[in-house]
Amino acid sequence: MSEPVRFVSQKVDLDYKVVTSPVARRFDEQMRAGRITGHKCPECGLVYVPPKGFCPIDCVITDESNEVEVRDAGTLTSFTVITPIQYQGQEEKEEYVLANILLDGASGTIGQQRVEGIPHSEVRMGMRVKAVWGGDPNEGSRGWGLTGAIKHWEPSGEPDEPKEKYQEHVL
Ligand SMILES: [Zn+2]
Repeated sequence: MSEPVRFVSQKVDLDYKVVTSPVARRFDEQMRAGRITGHKCPECGLVYVPPKGFCPIDCVITDESNEVEVRDAGTLTSFTVITPIQYQGQEEKEEYVLANILLDGASGTIGQQRVEGIPHSEVRMGMRVKAVWGGDPNEGSRGWGLTGAIKHWEPSGEPDEPKEKYQEHVL
């Protein structure tokens, strides 16, 4: 008797268009120019990265006049070591680290950020990291999160931040 069928290959060709907001397109343009930007709420002063185009706390619309640049460096506030399951089509073979990073100048963290250049056992909360640019900016550019322009993050070599500096941002 033959083995039961576990996978069936099926090739699908799809053309689709992703519609993004003007705020997301502007953010994307800035990322392509090597700048990470956010919107600073004129009422409460919180800096949203990526920009939302409004502050949900104050119900205030924000636009390009509220744009601020934040640093491409920050503090790792929490992380997960991912062990990829080897399903059909999985391209990840080795364990990798995804982290939440509080960028210098931003009021909240960005999530799902890949951290490289350090053994996983040494990744820690409070660690300082910097962006490694040079990725494909067309990847992941859908109006949320950062784009693929940043390949990953790596330790910056700066001293760790004390937990008081980032504990409000630990998820
Ligand atoms: Zn606000």
